Amino acid sequence: MERTTDSVPHVKLYMPGPVEVSGKTLRALSQPMIGHRSSDFEKLYAEIHPPLQTLFGTHQPVFLSTSSAWGVMEAAIRNLVNKKVLNCMCGAFSDKWFEVSKHCGKKAEALQVEWGQPITAESVEAKLAEGGFDAIALVHNETSCGVRNPLHEIAAVVRKFPEVLFIVDTVSSFSTESIPMDEWGIDVLLTGSQKGLALPPGLAIFSVSQRAFERAASTPARGYYFDFLEFKKNQEQYMTPSTPSIPHIYALRSKLEDIFQEGLENRYARHRQLNSMVHAWVRRNGFEFFAPEGYRSLSLTCVANNRNINIAAWVKHLREKHHIAIDGGYGKIKGKTFRVSNMGDETEDSIAQLLTILDASLREMRS
Ligand SMILES: *Cc1c(COP(=O)(O)O)cnc(C)c1O
Repeated sequence: MERTTDSVPHVKLYMPGPVEVSGKTLRALSQPMIGHRSSDFEKLYAEIHPPLQTLFGTHQPVFLSTSSAWGVMEAAIRNLVNKKVLNCMCGAFSDKWFEVSKHCGKKAEALQVEWGQPITAESVEAKLAEGGFDAIALVHNETSCGVRNPLHEIAAVVRKFPEVLFIVDTVSSFSTESIPMDEWGIDVLLTGSQKGLALPPGLAIFSVSQRAFERAASTPARGYYFDFLEFKKNQEQYMTPSTPSIPHIYALRSKLEDIFQEGLENRYARHRQLNSMVHAWVRRNGFEFFAPEGYRSLSLTCVANNRNINIAAWVKHLREKHHIAIDGGYGKIKGKTFRVSNMGDETEDSIAQLLTILDASLREMRS
């Protein structure tokens, strides 16, 4: 067991964010600083830009935002909504996004389903057909309840409405499965650093379509820090509007090396495989899934507590005795669910170890 200090054991994170960060990534963070207006920085950004475009499935510029994902989630609303946004709500993050739209002073409508249920393409189409919308915001993978919305089908529907820009949060699914931005007609694809990518929290990465830049140009009060057009102007010189978190960008470069060394298809297949190992454990232990079949996340598992175990006590026991962290349920489903991540650098071995510990700890809890 790696130790953070002599006496405090390292608690390995199996919760769905922040996820465990590898030693290689941590070392990448601690390289000497460079000036952010220097040619060294330009070289760094220019080097990571093509692999980022590949990962995003886009020919558009990819931007680095020194913020958490929420910065860009808010930015997308501020830059693109002139008339009214449709916020699709199916869990904690998407519910809050609706509130954020209103906090930005924008007109927003909700397409809301119960936590655990998916947003369907049919319901999106019916709602957009009511008219008046110029944007739609969707969380692809609702981390809070383990729901994976049918993004490809929803994208096809959104394209029937030429005025509606499609904003997609892929914070916990990015790089765990293929999400080709250009091909699917996504206008803003955004992610954070600390989930699918297994980097430390503090960086958001996003790309913006041509028509979304055009919309931004006609949107007043975009502010400065998150102005898409400032990002675009700076990216043309491989710069960022303000001083970025350079350590995160070193770490991202290191992570991109890992990702392309493994190969995208291998990486996606690994996530499916690890996810199915966790699913088999859930079934074997008589638990149920919080999300319905066909709409379950591939990067985490949200398990319903149908066995009525004391989840808070179990999570505490896992942390103290086994030095691993899983999540005991988010917000209003705390105690009624628990969540396990298979994002980032997990392997068959590391997930097998996790499942062995979960089994042992459930026995220990009974005795
Ligand atoms: C974690 C998460 C966010 C918020 O990320 P921050 O880094 O806290 O801004 C947004 N959306 C989803 C789906 C998430 O999982």
